Amino acid sequence: ASLNAKTLKSFQSALPIPTYNREGVKQGIVHLGVGAFHRSHLAVFMHRLMQDHNLKDWSICGVGLMKADAAMRDAMKAQDCLYTVVERGIKDANAYVVGSITAYMYAPDDPRAVIEKMASPDTHIVSLTVTENGYYHSEATNSLMADAPEIVNDLNHPEKPDTLYGYLYEALLLRYKKGLTPFTIMSCDNMPQNGVTVKTMLVAFAKLKKDEKFAAWIEDKVTSPNSMVDRVTPRCTDKERKYVADTWGIKDLCPVVAEPFIQWVLEDNFSDGRPPWELVGVQVVKDVDSYELMKLRLLNGGHSAMGYLGYLAGYTYIHEVVNDPTINKYIRVLMHEEVIPLLPKVPGVDFEEYTASVLERFSNPAIQDTVARICLMGSGKMPKYVLPSIYEQLRKPNGKYKLLAVCVAGWFRYLTGVDMDGKPFEIEDPMAPILKAAAVKGGRDPHELLNIEVLFSPEIRENKAFVAQLTHSLETVYDKGPLAAVNEILDQV
Ligand code: NAD
Repeated sequence: ASLNAKTLKSFQSALPIPTYNREGVKQGIVHLGVGAFHRSHLAVFMHRLMQDHNLKDWSICGVGLMKADAAMRDAMKAQDCLYTVVERGIKDANAYVVGSITAYMYAPDDPRAVIEKMASPDTHIVSLTVTENGYYHSEATNSLMADAPEIVNDLNHPEKPDTLYGYLYEALLLRYKKGLTPFTIMSCDNMPQNGVTVKTMLVAFAKLKKDEKFAAWIEDKVTSPNSMVDRVTPRCTDKERKYVADTWGIKDLCPVVAEPFIQWVLEDNFSDGRPPWELVGVQVVKDVDSYELMKLRLLNGGHSAMGYLGYLAGYTYIHEVVNDPTINKYIRVLMHEEVIPLLPKVPGVDFEEYTASVLERFSNPAIQDTVARICLMGSGKMPKYVLPSIYEQLRKPNGKYKLLAVCVAGWFRYLTGVDMDGKPFEIEDPMAPILKAAAVKGGRDPHELLNIEVLFSPEIRENKAFVAQLTHSLETVYDKGPLAAVNEILDQV
């Protein structure tokens, strides 16, 4: 049967269902970007608090900001925001229905309603998973991409924003005028200093609005904790829908199949209160920077390196890439030689063990994570996961970057939008037209891409030794393929 509030009880013999009251509870959290990850992570922690600790008034109001969220709106509406989570290990699968999202708003239909919801005194936290690109943050210049048409729209059309800044600004302005405490802005995206970044970009946006007093209020009063978030969560396809229907008898339009592993390390910095997340396994700490760096550089950086080279090598799934002996060795040596030496110590964590555990998780064939998903939105990911290690190596005497350069070479070759067999594929990235044009024009010469200022700083572009290394690897990828390029460098280090 289809999943919704009326049919929910009929599934209780097949799997655990929420038994808490979902009606009449307040929504203390407004979440922007209800994708797969939010529903496998924050919504699951909130579900555990509601189910096991009787937490009320902290349920979630989900919001879709993009036109593309219409499908999620329809699914959420049809299912009273209920959905199935399957934690799928190599051998076992653990499924349950999650009920912590109790409302969903589709912003393109009524932006004002979303702004008012965020400004409601019942809302204490506005959380975000809007992808790295959603922040309009240039890592290379560490500034807001103020010329992006969406940001320009938001500066001029407060009644119909396109980006999270337009929404956050208008909602905080309402709270400011009413004398309400500002909500906490809680980023759950994979970004270095995700909290600091979103707040700094919002303040930059506010300054462009030329209301100095209000910009100063945001700077002074709004908190935005940094965090490290982790759970591999592929996109839902018909395959997952069929699996959930066949196994548990639930017709679910938007199930989430994720790995069993889940982690959230969160800075304790909230302006308007927070739920007791410690009760459900969240590590609430004073400082998350070292955790964050470790995770972004090793897990996300490793993912990106495997993604582009693995795609060019012809693989479909990430577990297949992990099982390729050349790429597997490449990732281990890359981390050991060029990434781990840059990382500050994390209490109680051995980086080599962490890397091994990450590869072990990536080798899980049951979650069917695709190489294509890992490759999408590279303009948001590469500058945050991989390029920072290169910058740091370039600043060191005798810094090592040959293996990192192969990863960039893989990305650049991928950006031509044609695989090694000459077959075209789609590049999913907000910057796709610019990236593809530069990759095709440049070919074996990386300068066309390196000249894109929002992605690369002069430090990298003007370093002759690095550019020569990158050019060499790029030529090898073009002429002999990704695995030959990797092997060649592995022989040298
Ligand atoms: P998804 O594609 O399922 O959902 C992305 C959501 O972000 C959608 O609601 C979409 O509308 C919204 N979005 C995209 N671009 C936006 C923009 N410019 N402005 C506003 N909203 C925008 O993806 P997902 O798996 O939920 O991942 C989202 C993010 O979560 C990732 O980019 C990453 O930072 C973080 N994350 C994901 C995983 C994972 O394994 N999927 C793990 C850790 C962290």
